[in-house]
Amino acid sequence: MTQTAPEALALDGLDVPTRLLIAGEWRDAAAGAVINVVNPSDTSVLASIADAEVEDGLAAVDAAAAAFPAWAGTAPRERAEILRRCFELMTERSEQLARLISLENGKALPDARGEVAYAAEFFRWYSEEAVRIIGDVSTSPSGSNRILVQHQPIGVTALITPWNFPAAMATRKLAPALAAGCTAVLKPAALTPLTSLAIAQLMVDAGVPAGVVNVITTSRTGAVMGPVIADPRVRKLSFTGSTEVGRHLLRQAADNVLKCSMELGGNAPFLVFDDADLDKAVDGAMVAKMRNGGQACTAANRIYVQRGVDEEFARRLTERMSALRVGPGTDPATEVGPLVDEASVRKVDELVRDAVGQGARLLTGGRAPQAEGFFYLPTVLTNVPLSARMVSGEIFGPVASIIPFDTEEEAIAAANDSEYGLAAYVFSEDLRRALRVSERIESGMVAINRGLVSDPAAPFGGVKQSGLGREGAHQGLLDFTETKYIALDW
Ligand code: NAP
Repeated sequence: MTQTAPEALALDGLDVPTRLLIAGEWRDAAAGAVINVVNPSDTSVLASIADAEVEDGLAAVDAAAAAFPAWAGTAPRERAEILRRCFELMTERSEQLARLISLENGKALPDARGEVAYAAEFFRWYSEEAVRIIGDVSTSPSGSNRILVQHQPIGVTALITPWNFPAAMATRKLAPALAAGCTAVLKPAALTPLTSLAIAQLMVDAGVPAGVVNVITTSRTGAVMGPVIADPRVRKLSFTGSTEVGRHLLRQAADNVLKCSMELGGNAPFLVFDDADLDKAVDGAMVAKMRNGGQACTAANRIYVQRGVDEEFARRLTERMSALRVGPGTDPATEVGPLVDEASVRKVDELVRDAVGQGARLLTGGRAPQAEGFFYLPTVLTNVPLSARMVSGEIFGPVASIIPFDTEEEAIAAANDSEYGLAAYVFSEDLRRALRVSERIESGMVAINRGLVSDPAAPFGGVKQSGLGREGAHQGLLDFTETKYIALDW
């Protein structure tokens, strides 16, 4: 059925666009189709938004290509000031944006507020980096000439983001892309597009010129993004999402030899040694496991605890997990919201049943409560066998899986026994041990005695099948540039 999306959704004083942003205009999709966005806390339809076709995707590339030369030629200070205004507007609108995230993603308001602050920080950080794209000059070893190195904006970029951090995953790409002088076609997840649309509106309000940022929402993702990625004017693909889709996109990107950044899945080991401060370790596990109800690529997926402290750790973690208040994301009393959709609830429940069936001990939770919405109770399992499916794959839900170990060597080997290598956590009061273990863990990031690694000023990313490239820090900016070398004789 042909329908058009309403012009905007009014939410707590925030106008949330529901159409496509192409060349500075909010447009209906070419075929006039819509996607319904569902509130996972009660399964109601929150909004109907434009459902883009192939021609809309290509129109967005046209707009980004047309805007690129002028944007790349803008003074870095001007780009910096526009990004700074994005930070200020995002901060001003933070409460409405947090509620919007809670509504479409389901996460509890404190998590949503944390995400907005984190997401806004990418605008501030890259407003500061935009004026520090520094190359270098050196004398060649032979002394015959100079070597001049510059970092130039790569061009039109395609940015694809997941539903679990709808604000932060968008700004973590948009801010460095714009700071470098690139233009963008952003494709947010179909489950949570409203936050990206609201961010795009604030970028327009902050003075981002027409065509520099374009946003495409679609239910036919592969069909619409395939031609965008194949368009020779697109020079970079930056993707955050599952390893499975990442592999598929890398194959597509190979045809035009696109520069790729891939922020993919994780299976973070969380190591607690018997010399750890157990209160700190339990606090860390609550953050590393339960941020976003466990739906984070950095979530502690395998909690290895040294024998001797494993029972006590499990007891304290169970006490904390079973006391968490589960409810609708926007309810101020809620500490854990729903999962994003029904398929996620089914998948988490299957993983729990598989582990229990193989001998894991269920200490709390282990089921979906009787409520409307996609809820799953905070769950703790101990003595999880290594053959359980949740040990080798992402749980992506509020389930803590505890596995006892005896020696440091055994813990390191177990931590590294994964195709993933995104984040890892080490708890020990012996810093020599913590650093020794951190150096041997195969992951892009390690947190010692804390449950959080994400920071806009730090290089975020994984090794092995968790991805390619880094986001955040100065490196995140350089990943949107090409290095140009000029051999110089003067
Ligand atoms: P996903 O299914 O891989 O989807 C991610 C994005 O890719 C969505 O926008 C999706 O669109 C799009 N997509 C799917 N198929 C595509 C195709 N054929 N061509 C182009 N785009 C396509 O992942 P998700 O379920 O949204 O997110 C969860 C995953 O993301 C987890 O594995 C998590 O670990 C990972 N993640 C990684 C990081 C990191 O920084 N490393 C951060 C957050 C999340 P649709 O919405 O239309 O399907």
